[in-house]
Amino acid sequence: MSKLTTTWWIIFYKDQLLLKKTDNGFSIPCAGQPPIHISPETNIHEICMLDGHPCKAIAIDYPVEESDKYMMTGLRASYDFIPLKQYQTAGKAAEILHWDRNSRFCPACGTAMEQKAPIMKKCPKCGNEMYPSISTAILVLIRKEDKLLLVHARNFKGTFNSLVAGFLETGETLEECVAREVKEETGLDVKNITYFANQPWPYPSGLMVGFIADYAGGELTLQDEELSSGAFYTRDNLPELPRKLSLARKMIDWWIENGK
Ligand SMILES: [Zn+2]
Repeated sequence: MSKLTTTWWIIFYKDQLLLKKTDNGFSIPCAGQPPIHISPETNIHEICMLDGHPCKAIAIDYPVEESDKYMMTGLRASYDFIPLKQYQTAGKAAEILHWDRNSRFCPACGTAMEQKAPIMKKCPKCGNEMYPSISTAILVLIRKEDKLLLVHARNFKGTFNSLVAGFLETGETLEECVAREVKEETGLDVKNITYFANQPWPYPSGLMVGFIADYAGGELTLQDEELSSGAFYTRDNLPELPRKLSLARKMIDWWIENGK
């Protein structure tokens, strides 16, 4: 490949993404050369193609200072600044970099892993192969008459309220996961569990799968370890909601417009 192939340079310092300032906003840098000096031993990851140009991801161990050309911002915040496709591609890059950091040694024998393909590493000693793994989580919008259930989880980064969520366990279907998480976190039974949509969630490496369900019984009893508040709300009395980038917000907006 020519050194001057126009390339999207997705550069992270921890969760901070490097953005180029443009006449009308911000963009992931796209140029023949990387926008900053990259040491020769840096692992440059091939991510995918975007608008006909390859995307490469690099983790750096120092932040880039803001200038009239560049700034760094958190991946979540970048959603507000750059086109959706760029945000999604940066999310994929963040997941690959997370995987790279966490797969340096073979989990079976402890030998340093060798990267063999963009998403595959192999142990030169025992032959163990590693691929990026994805944690699957469910979100569930629970309807009760003209209300929906919103909760505040202790791990939320902010004061907003959102949907009940939880991680899929081994040996469980997604619908079983929905019923179990709702029961554990709220004490409620639900019925009519129906798939809604899904969304990659690169914080750090997840897939959110959204479901709609109807209240079927039980008293609202919050699991204190996970939830600090929760209640059924009508449309005209909603609390602070999650930001627009999340599937949870898309589901809540759908309910506001279409739910009964
Ligand atoms: Zn090994």
